[in-house]
Amino acid sequence: MDFIRNYKGVGMRSKTEFNYRNSRVTSSTKGWASTQKTSTRNSDINVILRIAEAAFETNDAIMVTDTDANIIQVNNSFMDITGYSFEEVVGRNPRMMSSGRHDKYFYDEMWRQLQKTGQWAGEIWDRRKSGEVYPKWVRISAVKNEYAETTHYVAIFSDLSERKKSEEEIRNLAFYDPITKLPNRHLFLECFRTALSAATRLKSFGAILFIDLDRFKILNDTLGHHYGDLMLVEVAARLKAGVREMDAVARLGGDEFVVLIKNVSDDEEDASRKIGVIAEKIRESLSHPYSLNGHQHISSPSIGVNLYGSTETSVDELIQQADMAMYQAKSAGRNTIRFFDPVMQHNVATHAALENDFRNAIALKQLHLYYQMQVDNNHRTVGAEALLRWVHPERGLVMPNTFIPIAEESSLIVEIGDWVMDTACQQLALWAKSERTRDLTLSVNVSAKQFSIPGFVGKVAEVLKKHQVNPTRLKIELTESMMLENMAATVKKMHELKALGVSLSMDDFGIGYSSLSYLKQMPLDQLKIDQGFVQGITADGNDAVLVQTIIDLATNFHLHVIAEGVETEAQLTFLKHHDCMAYQGFLFGKAVPIDEFEGILNSPEQIIQ
Ligand code: C2E
Ligand code: MG
Ligand code: MG
Repeated sequence: MDFIRNYKGVGMRSKTEFNYRNSRVTSSTKGWASTQKTSTRNSDINVILRIAEAAFETNDAIMVTDTDANIIQVNNSFMDITGYSFEEVVGRNPRMMSSGRHDKYFYDEMWRQLQKTGQWAGEIWDRRKSGEVYPKWVRISAVKNEYAETTHYVAIFSDLSERKKSEEEIRNLAFYDPITKLPNRHLFLECFRTALSAATRLKSFGAILFIDLDRFKILNDTLGHHYGDLMLVEVAARLKAGVREMDAVARLGGDEFVVLIKNVSDDEEDASRKIGVIAEKIRESLSHPYSLNGHQHISSPSIGVNLYGSTETSVDELIQQADMAMYQAKSAGRNTIRFFDPVMQHNVATHAALENDFRNAIALKQLHLYYQMQVDNNHRTVGAEALLRWVHPERGLVMPNTFIPIAEESSLIVEIGDWVMDTACQQLALWAKSERTRDLTLSVNVSAKQFSIPGFVGKVAEVLKKHQVNPTRLKIELTESMMLENMAATVKKMHELKALGVSLSMDDFGIGYSSLSYLKQMPLDQLKIDQGFVQGITADGNDAVLVQTIIDLATNFHLHVIAEGVETEAQLTFLKHHDCMAYQGFLFGKAVPIDEFEGILNSPEQIIQ
């Protein structure tokens, strides 16, 4: 577009044009006009016009209007940005491009300022010829003549759409999860804070649902991350479909999602009932099979629910509590919903304190081995089981069922297991020195995790050597759960232990995954009948049959068999009658410290036997 041609093209407005030209010339050439001769004045004006013409064609759009806001001139960038040609806009009001996004007040304000200061700048959303609404940054200046009268308005604007788009992209990256397009943790926290203060103000209850997908890792590991991503997208869609527009769904990371259900009820009980229904609906919807790229996948969620609105709990705490409830749901067998409650929090806190304390138990020499005797059919002590006790200065005597699971959650169990093995072998070495005790066997419990570590057999060999122990005196108690992991590797390890000369006993036999085929493969020496069956012998016919079957099984496989948890004479009579070979239980004695144990061994009745 040629500036001069256009300029001339609006001949009917020549007066305005002149004024416009005149104003511009005077405003930009003050010094020139007074110093140049009249003969050169016209050519100067031509040069100035050319400069103005060149300057007019910038990347910014320029639109010139008269005082009535009729467009009289536009540049090429204007046409590029708006999509309108010069002919389409000339003589018209810029209002033709308005998007409708700004109200009358906005334009009134703009005019007011323009008239007052001669300037206005701001963001305006206009509409292109194509219909697309876009943002632009506009600066409008009033052009005045030598009498300080406004003759024109010049609007210069740039298209902000690209910048807005990249700003939007940056915002998306900062606040949204790229896979599911759901808000991320950051945005969720903001949203939750607002919801929480609204709930407090309105005295209304809402809830946060903490959702974790069960066994998501397996999907990722077996089918790859692409399938994992597809699954996440589908979960996000189902979650969004299951809640109201006003509620919020976010992905915190990994396979963890949160749902915020706002403003459920003014009554806590009613809210909690309603939330229960919603959570169940979500649980159900996430449990339906997933079709991922034609691949069927079955999954389920574990959901922790936490109501908010009643106490002054912070957003972080509320999320943490919902997370805690989710863990409860997981340990309750997955595909489950659990509400957070303070008792649970108390238990978790107690557990954490216990765990913390327990870390120092070995170093502080608070762990002790207690010994429970094992007797034969003549009630002669033939050995003992070493049982761990934690003697805590304030907690008192802590039983292994409390701390072994904690130790098993971390590698502490390995450290403790090493300590037990070492202490037990040290004891065997001491027993070897006395005729009264040299034939005793000592049974040591080994946890599945400890057994599975690669150097386990080597460690046992080392400890036996260190204390110069006769390996046949050491009996290692295994559990059937070890067979679950890797049967072949377990059996191999058992053979290696046997090669050291150590005996092997299957503890708690009968409650696990016993199968005759695995029993045949394992180099066992002893079956230890689980105390649950022993205690049911006299009351439950099934238990009696089971105990009898286990004894027969052991006999047929040429294995030694011992019953544990023998508490009554009646149980003992039954067991003896069915050819059980050894016994352990409160009927003979509880697990006691070594001094006490040796005291019993040396008591007259034991010596007579
Ligand atoms: P377990 O190996 O089956 O040990 C037998 C448990 O039954 C012992 O409980 C023992 O005190 C108890 N008991 C023995 N006779 C009777 C009875 O007549 N009646 C009743 N009601 N109970 C009886 P404890 O000492 O509390 O040990 C519990 C479990 O902790 C053990 O079960 C074992 O799995 C584990 N454990 C104990 N010490 C160790 C250890 O050094 N290492 C590992 N890994 N686990 C251990
Ligand atoms: Mg045991
Ligand atoms: Mg047992």
